[in-house]
Amino acid sequence: MDDLLAQLRAGLPADALITDPDVTASYAHDMASFCAAGAPAVVVLPRTVEQVQHVMRTATALRVPVVPQGARTGLSGAANATDGCIVLSLTKMDRILEISAVDRIAVVEPGVINATLSRAVAEQGLSYPPDPSSWEMCTIGGNIGTASGGLCCVKYGVTAEYVLGLDVVLADGRLMTTGRRTAKGVAGYDLTRLFVGSEGSLGIVVKAVLALRPSPPRQLVLAAEFPSAAAACDAVCRIMERGHTPSLLELMDGTTIRAVNAMAHMGLPETTEALLLAAFDTPDPAADLAAVGELCAAAGATEVVPAEDVAESELLLQARRLSLTALEAVRSATMIDDVCVPRSRLAAMLDGTAAIAEKYGLTIGVCAHAGDGNTHPVVCFDQADPDESRRARESFDEIMALGLELGGTITGEHGVGVLKKDWLARELGPVGLEMQRGIKQTFDPLGLLNPGKLF
Ligand SMILES: Cc1cc2nc3c(=O)[nH]c(=O)nc-3n(C[C@H](O)[C@H](O)[C@H](O)COP(=O)(O)OP(=O)(O)OC[C@H]3O[C@@H](n4cnc5c(N)ncnc54)[C@H](O)[C@@H]3O)c2cc1C
Repeated sequence: MDDLLAQLRAGLPADALITDPDVTASYAHDMASFCAAGAPAVVVLPRTVEQVQHVMRTATALRVPVVPQGARTGLSGAANATDGCIVLSLTKMDRILEISAVDRIAVVEPGVINATLSRAVAEQGLSYPPDPSSWEMCTIGGNIGTASGGLCCVKYGVTAEYVLGLDVVLADGRLMTTGRRTAKGVAGYDLTRLFVGSEGSLGIVVKAVLALRPSPPRQLVLAAEFPSAAAACDAVCRIMERGHTPSLLELMDGTTIRAVNAMAHMGLPETTEALLLAAFDTPDPAADLAAVGELCAAAGATEVVPAEDVAESELLLQARRLSLTALEAVRSATMIDDVCVPRSRLAAMLDGTAAIAEKYGLTIGVCAHAGDGNTHPVVCFDQADPDESRRARESFDEIMALGLELGGTITGEHGVGVLKKDWLARELGPVGLEMQRGIKQTFDPLGLLNPGKLF
């Protein structure tokens, strides 16, 4: 330990190191609080690429594991510390280095907060679309680490589609540049894409070139109430089948609606079983909303209410963004699933989840990026009750099994982390798993980068 600190100090300013155990403990885990986490030996907050390289060279020389972290809003334990590790927090590398309207790119350091970037590019008439609900807190480095999605991904796509190039510090401290800052480019294997979603297991992202789009017009939102989740899912299928491209298509079930009201007193309709939010940022959003409203009514909506203006639209989105936090307040703990299924199987996924909740006698609220088929069943349980905790884990697993059965994936956007390690093997199969382990071995032969995650 003394050797580690001495070698780290040799290349870092004093204020880049935290060793106070009370403070380092606060860096031990992300927001999936039910996942196991170890005690870090030290937390390092570098400000430059050279400092990150120094940390990795030291870690390699002394064979100390390194856990990269952004804002620790992750929901799979992917940023959780292991015992004796160096926590490498990239939050102080938070400069926006360039915004180019001509090239339609932004070049950023990894600690830039997603919302900060969105606002900065908006000032120049541009947008950075990936918008996780945690956008006011999470970092671009974390978004790249988890390949995160968000509300507007149904129209604009996920993080992977916006990362053009990266600077990455490898496990041994070498600096590698991947990708491009051009509109096109196909030179060699797409290592940029490989890093997106790699959960800090292949290298440390220290710079990213991100694609931007022109700012879309302000979106207008419609809320539709349904007597069942299945009817709301039917509306989703009708909307997509007719070729509409909403800028978001989100679902909250009855449990979620009541949880949001209990927390934020938003006056959402409590008697309804599912609320569908659809938005359009097209030149004539009112006309698109009217067409979608008719499709909702045909699918059985009891109430279809278009927002009157942008402020009312924002309020509805606020309710959706609060969903996970509100469900967390239902019992003492939650396990948040992230199963994504083909849209055509969404109703089966929601009905199946309700059946699982009944079987295990648990409250499971579901909010969903419905337009993407990406559901977040949130299993609410009392951590102090061993039997309830056991039932929570079993129902959580059964939800993933259901997702795979329906042709889906165990994680649409939150990643594998430590939470879903056992399930990754089931989804990939033995050959896929072997190839992925080979990639890890190539980039990190000593197994120092974020050990214990993914596999
Ligand atoms: C209320 C709430 C709502 C959420 N909503 C969404 C949502 O709508 N969509 C969604 O996708 N997610 C959502 N999330 C999950 C989370 O916010 C995202 O996964 C986010 O991308 C994590 O970013 P972070 O900065 O907190 O990263 P962290 O949690 O700190 O890290 C995430 C992963 O990235 C790695 N990492 C971080 N920085 C680097 C780097 N510089 N180089 C290499 N690896 C790195 C870490 O090792 C870890 O594996 C939500 C979370 C909360 C709490």
